Amino acid sequence: MKITPDTRRYFEKMVETDTLKYSLITYCILTVHVILFVLFLFLHVMPLVLFNIGSVCIYLYCTRILKSGESPIRVFYITYLEIIAYSFVAAICVGWRFGFSQYIIGLIPFGYYMCYTLIEGNRKYFIATALGFFAFFCFIGCRMLSLYTGAIYEMDLPPVGELMIYIFNSICNFTFLLMVSLIFIMEMQAATTKLSSQNTILDKLASIDPLTGLYNRRSMQVFLNHALESGENFCLVMCDIDNFKRVNDTYGHDSGDVVLKEISKIIQQQVKDHGYVCRWGGEEILILSNAPLDYTCQMAETIRRSVESFLFYFNETIVHCTLTLGTASHRDGETVEDTIMHADSRLYYGKQNGKNRVVSPYDTP
Ligand code: GH3
Ligand code: MG
Ligand code: MG
Repeated sequence: MKITPDTRRYFEKMVETDTLKYSLITYCILTVHVILFVLFLFLHVMPLVLFNIGSVCIYLYCTRILKSGESPIRVFYITYLEIIAYSFVAAICVGWRFGFSQYIIGLIPFGYYMCYTLIEGNRKYFIATALGFFAFFCFIGCRMLSLYTGAIYEMDLPPVGELMIYIFNSICNFTFLLMVSLIFIMEMQAATTKLSSQNTILDKLASIDPLTGLYNRRSMQVFLNHALESGENFCLVMCDIDNFKRVNDTYGHDSGDVVLKEISKIIQQQVKDHGYVCRWGGEEILILSNAPLDYTCQMAETIRRSVESFLFYFNETIVHCTLTLGTASHRDGETVEDTIMHADSRLYYGKQNGKNRVVSPYDTP
């Protein structure tokens, strides 16, 4: 069977909705009791007819508890005790051979699942294990009691009838176990998906500069190390906004932030997937370009021109900003710091020689 994304989403939603999940289990057990009620009515086993009526009432009450929004832990304990009591009464009334006691085995994984999801702290392991041992002793107890008392109701059933009841009980028990296992697996899946998407968000938060949306210095350091380890040629472009202090002083820090954001956007648009752009610090932006030096210099020139022609409007005043860029190509044997230093010194050269320009290795020694 192919599980479509819609089906998967439905199941994930279902396991997330606790009330729905526990109500489903409760209604399934209730349905089994209705069937058993009809069966024992037909076989004239009155104690079990009455017990089934009682059980149906108990589970109807449980659905009300669940609907009221109360913690399902009470429903779990009621279910646990009801199943054990039923197994004992069935073993005494009709004997061991119909397999009513096998429901007790299903209580062990069910108990662990419920304790794990509903009880806080480490005591959940203790409670689940204690309940598991209790279930084991009850199972043995049922067997011994049924041997001791024998079946009070000797039902006149052909072997195939006995077999059918045994198979019915096995099907119910296996379905119950499958249901609990499936819910458990789906919950694990939902938790893993949630965790990995939270990790992605955290990774993003840790690697992105919040103001500009560019990578931060920490992530750039990773990209630079990768570039160095790969052995591929790469270039760096160090950019610095010209007279930025004046923009801040004249139009305010918020306007300065707008300039920084817009210029970051322009640079990012030009670099696209030719490399990585990061906010290296303050209003300095570093580009790691995977393209050859000539292409990188052309790209730097396009960025310079785009910034130069961009119009900022502050207090109904049109403001121009410019950018100075220093480029460097990584040479074999150089460290990343060496290449950054070369780009930086060309940027400095550009600042000293009129600003608003791209300085490439062809312009300086
Ligand atoms: P130059 O042309 O020589 O680069 O001159 P400049 O005024 O740009 O000088 P410098 O690069 O030394 O000044 C950097 C200024 O950038 C100082 C600081 O107030 C400002 N700055 C740094 N980070 C931010 C920021 O996140 N927002 C704003 N608005 N200003 C910032
Ligand atoms: Mg500056
Ligand atoms: Mg600066």
